[in-house]
Amino acid sequence: MSSAPSTLTQQPAILIVDDREANLLALESLLESCNAKIYTATSGNEALSLLLELSFSLVLLDVQMPDMDGFEVAEIMRSNPQTQSIPIIFVTAISTEKDYIFKGYESGAVDYLTKPIEPVVLNSKVKVFLELWTEKNKLISALTDLEEANQKIKLQHDKLQELAIRDHLTGLYHRRWFDEVSIKEVAHAVRHKIHLSIAMIDIDYFKKVNDSYGHSTGDEVLIQVSKILHDSIREDDTLFRYGGEEFVILFPHTCHAAAVATCERVRQNVKKHNFIYNDVSLNLSVSIGIAELLELEQQVVSSLIENADEQLYLAKNKGRDQVSSSLLQTTSIMTHGPCSGKNANNSTKRSKKNAG
Ligand code: GH3
Ligand code: MG
Ligand code: MG
Repeated sequence: MSSAPSTLTQQPAILIVDDREANLLALESLLESCNAKIYTATSGNEALSLLLELSFSLVLLDVQMPDMDGFEVAEIMRSNPQTQSIPIIFVTAISTEKDYIFKGYESGAVDYLTKPIEPVVLNSKVKVFLELWTEKNKLISALTDLEEANQKIKLQHDKLQELAIRDHLTGLYHRRWFDEVSIKEVAHAVRHKIHLSIAMIDIDYFKKVNDSYGHSTGDEVLIQVSKILHDSIREDDTLFRYGGEEFVILFPHTCHAAAVATCERVRQNVKKHNFIYNDVSLNLSVSIGIAELLELEQQVVSSLIENADEQLYLAKNKGRDQVSSSLLQTTSIMTHGPCSGKNANNSTKRSKKNAG
């Protein structure tokens, strides 16, 4: 008996099952011309173990065998997903009575041959099944190629989509994406009456960096500031590059006091950072304006931006390097206390895989 398994898209394999060696030899020689690997088994058990071990294109199955007859083998094959679609041709010496033939079909035969076998009939039937097997393999292989191609297209599409919403210099989400995200976040916060804060951050005297050290140093500063901001916020907060040297942080589920506390940390992190690029070493600061949605008369994105922008303007006017918000002007953060309720932001720093 041959030993190598038949795999998809390779040479087809036929399993001949008969308890008589002489019959096996006879069938084997009849099938010599069909260009298939021939395997043989002399019992139902041997056949089943071969069927589980290798991949077959067709089974020629003797009906009358000791221990387990051909119908039982066929039934077991049909109950196992690994073998249920292998076509079976029953080869039998016993009568061609209708009942017998039906039993064969019920147990999963796709054809029936009676001994003595007519070589021409056997070969033409086998040829049809092997052609079907080849076509099926071609389809499976085409389907696999198609699935792989689809997967590649999807990955490229996802990559392109991600690139389309990010600023190419800093890798942060850009303003157009802010416009989309903020509308949804604001609608959600208004509907559920939950806190939502926003911060507008602007690098102080950034033009001087460009003017003194060149545009590429300015670019590097923007990259380093982006990283500091990104590393200073939580996973749920989203960072955007809003304009040239302006950034926006969207703080969902965050009350005014918590946003102020986070932005104070952001300001300090920029302040203490030493910007080094080529032989340039710099220290910079940012000014930050904060607004909270629930405090606004008009609870819409434009008011939120307008309010934060006003606060940023105040921070600049008051000397830069500071955080400004209506909360800080009316009362102290401590009298407002940390946010209460389930939507409160505890302002502790967490990992931030989603931050822009
Ligand atoms: P202020 O403290 O009032 O914010 O002053 P400023 O100098 O930071 O602000 P100003 O608006 O006068 O200048 C911002 C500069 O940012 C002007 C612009 O050329 C520069 N800029 C905008 N986008 C980029 C960029 O992508 N790369 C570089 N290097 N510079 C940029
Ligand atoms: Mg500036
Ligand atoms: Mg500016």
